[in-house]
Amino acid sequence: MPHVITQSCCSDGSCVYACPVNCIHPSPDEPGFATAEMLYIDPVACVDCGACVSACPVGAIAPDARLTVEQLPFIALNASFYPDRPAGEKLPPTSKLAPVIPAPEVHAHHGGPLTVAIVGSGPAAMYAADELLTQQGVRVNVFEKLPAPYGLVRAGVAPDHQTTKRVTQLFDRIARRREFRFFLNVEIGKHLSHDDLLAHHHAVIYASGAPNDRRLDIDGMDLPGTGTATELVAWINSHPDFTDLPVDLSHERVIVIGNGNVALDVARVLTADPDELAHTDISDHALSALRASRVQEVVIAARRGPEHSAFTLPELIGLTTTAEVVLSGADHEAVLRDLATVTEPLTRQKLEILSTLGDASTAASPMARPRIRLAYNLTPQRISGQQRVTGMEFVVTGSDEVQTIEAGLVLTSIGYHGKAIKDLPFDDKAGVVPNDGGRVTHSDSDQPVDGAYVAGWIKRGPTGFIGTNKSCALQTVQRLVDDYNAGTLRNPIGKPSALDKLVRERQSDVVNAAGWRAIDAAEVARGESSDRPRNKFTSVTEMLDAAAAAPTPPLHRRLADRLRELADLA
Ligand code: NAP
Repeated sequence: MPHVITQSCCSDGSCVYACPVNCIHPSPDEPGFATAEMLYIDPVACVDCGACVSACPVGAIAPDARLTVEQLPFIALNASFYPDRPAGEKLPPTSKLAPVIPAPEVHAHHGGPLTVAIVGSGPAAMYAADELLTQQGVRVNVFEKLPAPYGLVRAGVAPDHQTTKRVTQLFDRIARRREFRFFLNVEIGKHLSHDDLLAHHHAVIYASGAPNDRRLDIDGMDLPGTGTATELVAWINSHPDFTDLPVDLSHERVIVIGNGNVALDVARVLTADPDELAHTDISDHALSALRASRVQEVVIAARRGPEHSAFTLPELIGLTTTAEVVLSGADHEAVLRDLATVTEPLTRQKLEILSTLGDASTAASPMARPRIRLAYNLTPQRISGQQRVTGMEFVVTGSDEVQTIEAGLVLTSIGYHGKAIKDLPFDDKAGVVPNDGGRVTHSDSDQPVDGAYVAGWIKRGPTGFIGTNKSCALQTVQRLVDDYNAGTLRNPIGKPSALDKLVRERQSDVVNAAGWRAIDAAEVARGESSDRPRNKFTSVTEMLDAAAAAPTPPLHRRLADRLRELADLA
């Protein structure tokens, strides 16, 4: 009964180190790790101990006999990563255990314990905090502009992917560490500057993500009925800035431009059964809109052919096992043409799945739900409509044939773009802060910018999965700790208590970890009566009210904190 890694694999590699027989690959030391779509268990070498199950932060691993019907294709997918062998013949072991990448060791002491500010609280921020806190005495303060932490895990992961959101349990454990502090509802660049942070910390790690959408520059993009997939996902996920997003589903077709995993997320949610979504953490406003939706088809339009599909294989398997997905006759032919030439194994597997899909012109809807059509070789030309969107005009890629598809909503899903950070250099084209392995460098030279580091999408661009940020953050922390050990970081000048005072002066509504726990508990309680994991607040005011109900820390805790502060000053 070998174990199997399934769709929600976050690729953070925790399972690799838990495995006693090194049967999960690619491991973080192997070349394919950074670009792998998921990790794979070798069914021949697996000893079924289940250690990987406990280590996985997103519940992606199960014994093969306990998979759901939708997960069954992952048995073959895990096995296909490894070469064919006669039954019972194991691969020669590379080493008994996967080599652990050593934690960055702090072995110096400059101006008090190493104290680091992290800006942002998504996966890159939390993995960076986790790496720093492996070292005795290091202090981490996390600044987040919303009163609720965890960035895209909270506001970007689709509600039908609840297991992926389990990674927040890991983040909660990190946040409970004594040396970790949350400063939520505090915006860097507005309430505090980079210099303010540097006055109170040895270094600042910016893990602020890539919050902007890449824009499609065609006529009609400002008409009512246009939008971006990421805005829609934020609206679905109760992000307070998107509560009032106008989302009109009173027509038959939605077009999503681009076919990455975000496009698949949106298409799945728009076509899912609202009764099933009602048991997730979807926002009430999105659920009511979906219940009233008249959408019958979501077209995911890619400008290139099937071979170049941007979605990953696990997500394609997840889509085709839960929704009705079809292809036009011309696209079926394109898939067969690609299958005749493509040799790369993962792409071939995608094409093989695409070749089994129903035909758009004949397929009836067995699930009585709206269907999804994957469309290829359509280059966007312009949005049609006078007062609002009525459709989209494409050119068939590589020809001058025009194809028009009627639709009432057009969403672009063509990737994210980083936003410049006040007081730091920025590469506008790439949408990242220039850096050398996470150490921020000046735009016109490779010289480091004092005390500034980056991790996650603002460092490497908007690619990869939640767990990709673990190795990304580790690299940044290694650079930072090297600089601290070498004595090149300036010592903070402000006393620890002065930071609290400064933050409160600039933002009296700062929310701490106890405030977040109160928001969290209130949201979970609001969801209980309707059998939902939580019912999220949709406004900052509601979150602040819930945070205000947080109990004051007990006297012994306050005394311990004060003693620790005095020790820092000594
Ligand atoms: P993405 O994977 O980069 O896909 C972008 C899509 O937009 C591609 O199809 C691209 O086509 C298309 N595109 C770009 N410019 C275009 C233009 N001017 N006109 C038409 N099409 C254009 O981006 P994403 O979907 O936003 O995902 C971002 C990252 O988050 C990815 O690494 C993704 O895997 C990850 N993510 C993962 C999950 C998950 O694991 N469940 C969920 C969501 C997101 P070309 O290929 O032709 O450029």
